[in-house]
Amino acid sequence: MSVEDRAPAHVKAIAPYQPGKPISDLARELGLDEAGIVKLASNENPLGVSPAALDAMTRALADVTRYPDGNGFEVKSAISSRFGVDPAQVVLGNGSNDVLELAARAFLLPGTSAVYAQHAFAVYPLVTQATGAHGIEVPARDFGHDLDAMLAAIRPDTRIVFLANPNNPTGTFIEGAALERFIAAVPDDVLVVLDEAYTDYLPSALRYDSIAWLARHPNLMVSRTLAKAYGLAGLRVGFGLAAPLVIDLLNRVRQPFNVNSIAQAGAVAVLNDPSFLERSFEVNLAGMKQVTEGLSALGFEYIPSCANFVSFRVGPAARVFDLLLKQGVIVRPIAGYGMPEYLRVSIGTADENRRFLEALRTVTAGLPGVRTTGTGR
Ligand SMILES: *Cc1c(COP(=O)(O)O)cnc(C)c1O
Repeated sequence: MSVEDRAPAHVKAIAPYQPGKPISDLARELGLDEAGIVKLASNENPLGVSPAALDAMTRALADVTRYPDGNGFEVKSAISSRFGVDPAQVVLGNGSNDVLELAARAFLLPGTSAVYAQHAFAVYPLVTQATGAHGIEVPARDFGHDLDAMLAAIRPDTRIVFLANPNNPTGTFIEGAALERFIAAVPDDVLVVLDEAYTDYLPSALRYDSIAWLARHPNLMVSRTLAKAYGLAGLRVGFGLAAPLVIDLLNRVRQPFNVNSIAQAGAVAVLNDPSFLERSFEVNLAGMKQVTEGLSALGFEYIPSCANFVSFRVGPAARVFDLLLKQGVIVRPIAGYGMPEYLRVSIGTADENRRFLEALRTVTAGLPGVRTTGTGR
């Protein structure tokens, strides 16, 4: 018997998360200059870092000899005033992935289950499996969450339902009214984790006030991240909003210093910089139009997206992904999400979007098996 044999079967069964390919990897492999590579693989913000956040983080460097504030007082205060919640309703995470995992650790164990949709964010099955709980994957409808089926899938042993709105990697969206009806129908003793990583990209007509729902649904947790529209993916800050009794449970399984001091400084600054968020929204709106029109012009079918990325059907996706890499363009294969004919591209700057579309046109021209509607080109 070796030490590996002693790891629980549910741990050995985990298929590791497949991140977007780093720019530095591709530069090394192709002998390319990093500056010539376009990475549209991880839904990062093409605007770069908010100058206010950069300034605050630079100043915070001088203090790294001290442990961070384990309670994140300043960050929670900024969240509290921005979103109108009590600080006791906030849990901070090392990215929102951390918050999702805290929920799993606090509520799941072998013999329980969590419900999530087919094609939903990969972290839900990962954090579920890590606890030894059973993951129930509910078939999607038109790539989106099928709420009726998800409700029907809840069992007496279910402790968490995970939903992403908009969802990654499909970009699909559920309207606020339907979502709140769903939450109301979920049994009171099942935690609904509503992952709103992309909520800041929603056009005003689609926005809904999930934070107001917290008062009506004590079994709801809303999770948000500073990684996307706030432009701080590498910093790792996310947060969960829920009833104080739920937050208290998550804090019990949280590492005491899970958000470092530089991250706390940057988070406070960007939360107080609404103009950055507005620019993120505008750049994404224009870029989404550019990319989807470009995809249509090339004859590719795409899934209409409410986020900062779009998934499109290309046919031989693994092959096209490799050919795009050779052009210095990194996108995301999503075969692991049960979408082997699709690629996901993040919305970049106008220039990056143009480079992506040009490279896609080049590598798919005459390529066997490429799926187009026949209307483009
Ligand atoms: C990107 C993303 C997140 C954010 O994760 P962080 O850990 O905050 O970087 C959360 N949920 C979904 C669905 C995402 O796509």
